[in-house]
Amino acid sequence: MKSERSKRLFQIANSLLPGGVNSPVRAFKAVGGNPLFIERAKGSRLYDVDGNVFIDYVLSWGPMILGHTHPEVTKAIKEAVSKGTSYGAPTEKEILLARLIKKAFPSIEKVRMVNSGTEATMSAIRAARGFTKRDKIIKFEGCYHGHADGLLAKAGSGAATLGIPDSPGVPEDYARNTITIPFNNIKVFKETVNRHRKDLAAVIVEPVAGNIGCVLPAPGFLEALREETERNEIVLIFDEVMTGFRVSYGGAQSFYKIKPDITCLGKVIGGGLPVGAYGGKKEIMSIIAPEGPVYQAGTLSGNPIAMTAGIATLTELAKKGTYEKLNKTAEMIEHGLKDASKRAGIKTRFYRAGTMFCTYFTDCEVIDYSTAKSSDTVKFGNFFRKMLNRGIYIAPSQFEAGFLSLSHSAADINKTIISAYNSFLEIK
Ligand SMILES: *Cc1c(COP(=O)(O)O)cnc(C)c1O
Repeated sequence: MKSERSKRLFQIANSLLPGGVNSPVRAFKAVGGNPLFIERAKGSRLYDVDGNVFIDYVLSWGPMILGHTHPEVTKAIKEAVSKGTSYGAPTEKEILLARLIKKAFPSIEKVRMVNSGTEATMSAIRAARGFTKRDKIIKFEGCYHGHADGLLAKAGSGAATLGIPDSPGVPEDYARNTITIPFNNIKVFKETVNRHRKDLAAVIVEPVAGNIGCVLPAPGFLEALREETERNEIVLIFDEVMTGFRVSYGGAQSFYKIKPDITCLGKVIGGGLPVGAYGGKKEIMSIIAPEGPVYQAGTLSGNPIAMTAGIATLTELAKKGTYEKLNKTAEMIEHGLKDASKRAGIKTRFYRAGTMFCTYFTDCEVIDYSTAKSSDTVKFGNFFRKMLNRGIYIAPSQFEAGFLSLSHSAADINKTIISAYNSFLEIK
């Protein structure tokens, strides 16, 4: 694999950007080597500046569920750009995207658009605190809710990859209001609610924990969150930034049939442009300015180009048969990877929710952050490099989910499974 140009660009980038990147996990630190600089992408393929081609399972960390440069999305964006890129005044596009979101997520009665998942979760928590007039929140170990202060405690994703448990720069006063407990542990959750219920504004959770790989909710776990929060008038926030329009069209809440009070969205709803959103019960959302006193704003929020990309993406996804097709591809990869690891005689655990999935190099059932960490990350690093050399681009970290798109063909999946089998044999 040639990588001269990527290497040179990374050297220059390092002199200009911290770590040479604008988001930590991109730097390949956990797996070694240099990140690839990308020139273009189409469908399931990524093309780097050295002329290498890869089948892409990162998909911009989730958003590109239709595949890259989807013709309808690209066309819509081009048309929108010719009408101006930002006005700072309302447009009809904001209504259209809000309608599509509301239709897919019946728990969302009113929604506010923002520019990232981080803004969505940060603002949702502010709304919950304003609404309940309480300060404390519960989050779960390994769940990542963006990089806002107070949400970075045991936060998974890049923090897990780089072994940063709690970020410096977050005042203790902020972190004190965040109670962190293990994912999937109903007993500890109930005890914690009992102890703090008078002070708890919100419980925030990734209904499928996708920032420590792919950890599924144990039977009864999400139900327990719903029951306890309802009983104690605590706001239940589902962070569906990753799972929204990914686990199913209506997200994890439709798949697991649980209605949260507030839902956070991002990634897929921007179709590859910077968009986030948070929405939920009317009485809670009415606390947001200018309807209510809780302030939250954005110069570029509801940006017409970003709204256009989101509308085009959700419109494609809403077409009949889309999720059947996505699920069929996902079943192929699941059966193929499980079978390949068995034939190669390597111990792995595979988990999947819709089109997000993860292979852990462990013998232990993965149910939370500590069991996810039992995965052999040295083996993962070797696997990652072998796959990259075979033209398969997976996330450069054990603690990130893999993603599939509508553009991944049966031939793509077959090539991936054969590559995985050979890589498993070489690293075991
Ligand atoms: C990606 C992600 C975020 C943060 O979104 P950004 O757009 O990167 O700020 C928040 N929550 C979850 C569950 C995510 O996967």
